[in-house]
Amino acid sequence: MNFTFVTLFPNLIYPYFSDSILSRAKENGAIEINCVNPRDFSLDKHKKVDDYKIGGGAGLLMSAQPLFDTLSHLTKDKEAYFIFPAPAGKSFTQNDAKRLSKKEHIVFVCGRYEGIDERVVETYADEIFSIGDFVLTGGELPALAMCDAISRMVDGVLGNEKSLLEESFEDALLEAPSFTKPNVYDNLPVPSDFLKGNHAIISRLKNRMAYAKTCFHRPDLYKIVKNKRNYYAK
Ligand code: SAM
Repeated sequence: MNFTFVTLFPNLIYPYFSDSILSRAKENGAIEINCVNPRDFSLDKHKKVDDYKIGGGAGLLMSAQPLFDTLSHLTKDKEAYFIFPAPAGKSFTQNDAKRLSKKEHIVFVCGRYEGIDERVVETYADEIFSIGDFVLTGGELPALAMCDAISRMVDGVLGNEKSLLEESFEDALLEAPSFTKPNVYDNLPVPSDFLKGNHAIISRLKNRMAYAKTCFHRPDLYKIVKNKRNYYAK
């Protein structure tokens, strides 16, 4: 699967893929990462890519021309699917990651300054996503976060794809607490049922713990799971 980052700062992007799971995914060809810099498309003699807001207002915006030309160049690939990170977007979720992992080519258009001239967004955005109700200095981190979550769903990226099935947000539940060796650490034992080797008991316990954890940390998700259960129980 191809990912292109439209960014004024490609050096923020490439290092993320130089280590660990996503570096291996790149090496084995499961994902391909490219950056395109709108500055290279600027027709301004100083390669300017920003300007003041028409009508006034604080700060600068990424201006229309360099981005229109960059994105028009990228539409040569008919499969290119344009995602704009923005605080105003809908919340990015695990279901979005799963759905988008079926695309051939995702282009993340990373804003900087006070954002992007709205005409670019309206012309090109297939989807606009926020990664939370806070404001970052640029779209590179949100784009990397989304790319990471999407890549994990691509065949050949994770060593053990079974782990995807037990993860948080599958069935709207958070993953049950997990433990590793030693069985007792500094007087803190793992729940004794985990040590009995009975997979049915462990699985039931994990399920109960997943419900309790979801209820405690994410009552909003718990409500969804409960409603679903009541619906199927009818
Ligand atoms: N003036 C904009 C506003 O109030 O909505 C914020 C612009 S922000 C400083 C610059 C860029 O960072 C945005 O264009 C977007 O690409 C990215 N960004 C910042 N916060 C984000 C968030 N929570 N989710 C996704 N992208 C974000």
